Amino acid sequence: MENKLFLHNTITSKKELFEPINPPFVGMYVCGPTVYSDSHLGHARPAIVFDVLYRYLKYLGYKVRYVRNITDVGHLENELEESGEDKIGKKARIEQLEPMEIVQNYLNSFRYNMAQLNVLPPSIEPHASGHIIEQQLLIEKILKNGFAYEVNGSVYFDVEKYNKKYNYGKLSGRVLEELLENTRQLEGTDEKKSFYDFALWKKASPEHIMRWPSKWSEGFPGWHLECSAMSTKYLGEPFDIHGGGMDLIFPHHECEIAQNVAATGIEPVKYWLHNNMITINGQKMARSLGNFITLNEIFSGKNNLLSKAYNPMTIRFFILQAHYRSTINFSNEALQAAEKGLERLFSAIDTLKNIKPSEKSSIDIKDIRTNCFEAINDDLNTPVVIATLFDGVRIINQAKDSKIQLSAQDISELQNIYNTFVFNILGLKESKAEKNKDFEKLIELVLQIRFEAKQKKDFSTSDKIRNQLKEIGIIVKDTKDGYEWSYE
Ligand code: ZN
Repeated sequence: MENKLFLHNTITSKKELFEPINPPFVGMYVCGPTVYSDSHLGHARPAIVFDVLYRYLKYLGYKVRYVRNITDVGHLENELEESGEDKIGKKARIEQLEPMEIVQNYLNSFRYNMAQLNVLPPSIEPHASGHIIEQQLLIEKILKNGFAYEVNGSVYFDVEKYNKKYNYGKLSGRVLEELLENTRQLEGTDEKKSFYDFALWKKASPEHIMRWPSKWSEGFPGWHLECSAMSTKYLGEPFDIHGGGMDLIFPHHECEIAQNVAATGIEPVKYWLHNNMITINGQKMARSLGNFITLNEIFSGKNNLLSKAYNPMTIRFFILQAHYRSTINFSNEALQAAEKGLERLFSAIDTLKNIKPSEKSSIDIKDIRTNCFEAINDDLNTPVVIATLFDGVRIINQAKDSKIQLSAQDISELQNIYNTFVFNILGLKESKAEKNKDFEKLIELVLQIRFEAKQKKDFSTSDKIRNQLKEIGIIVKDTKDGYEWSYE
């Protein structure tokens, strides 16, 4: 039962039995962040979804190599038109820093946020800028096979030529002829032969900071290329699982397939998995709509859309309450409900430790384990796993009130199920700082006292409070007009 894992494969639009190419080894690649600003809610979902898959595959006994890239070059401001400044280069210019300082700064903060969310670090986190040679070699193969062309020092992928031999659009279900119908009037506006051709190598304009020498020009790789080069370098060709957000299916993942197939003739990926998006109060999240929330803002409560700070585990639980292929709507009310639910779950797990076993049990609990495994094996159906865990919560609470009896064996079975699913597979952890509902009010009170102490120049008291709060996982920051605090 435990090893019949079915996953929805985007390329076939079917749930398929997961069978690795080279068991017990599993190779998994997930598109990682472009590190030029603080991590936001949209980064949290794929990280958590594929963390659960990573954890479950390891639980099943597979030896998993999980690769998640760091994009630190090649993402231009207007991605589809492949124009504008490099996003990292622009930030570097504005902040007067080296591009690699920008990358390091936001990569550190991304990793910190991921650790807060209890997301395990991948096996390898390759940087695009560290694999320029691999990307250039891939371009050479594609050129040699006749599926790319050079214009003025830039190299473009020839989508129409590729589509004559292979199928461009097989992942996204798009048909090239139809796509091109709508773009005829846009042609001839740049160097490309056809609108959907995409850059493999771009010649750098004089003001472009991030550039490397190549046969074709001093320039930089196109934004789809790094994933084709790095996934197959570390996982071989073909490899088992490629993941990412649904917004990446077209054009990014479609282009990845085209690049690999054009270079070697081999379909690079056996299972394509895509998570759906998060909406905020029913709207798409976007900086331009003013509903953009960073993870730091959620953990500190410093955002107009939030009434308070939320613990990272509340966010993790909130995300896992939806199936990864459904949209999730983020709202203050939904987070409050998730917070309460998680509290009930942890409190039942605590209660379980104190339940006195009876000689005989008055209830059959064996369905809980079966139902949890059936749900996780059914394309990672975490909402059903969670609902089943709550069936257990009701049983525990009834046993606490002596309405039913649990044997010692029942209790250890329930403990085993919660260890496996709550902590090990869903990756939830009990925060030191979420035991009590009034905890946050108490923190506010203590910080108010600290603030008053500081105003009276009683720094030994104010330092003592700050240091002791840090020990229980609360970080206090002094600001211009007071203080703010967040969970560690
Ligand atoms: Zn990618």
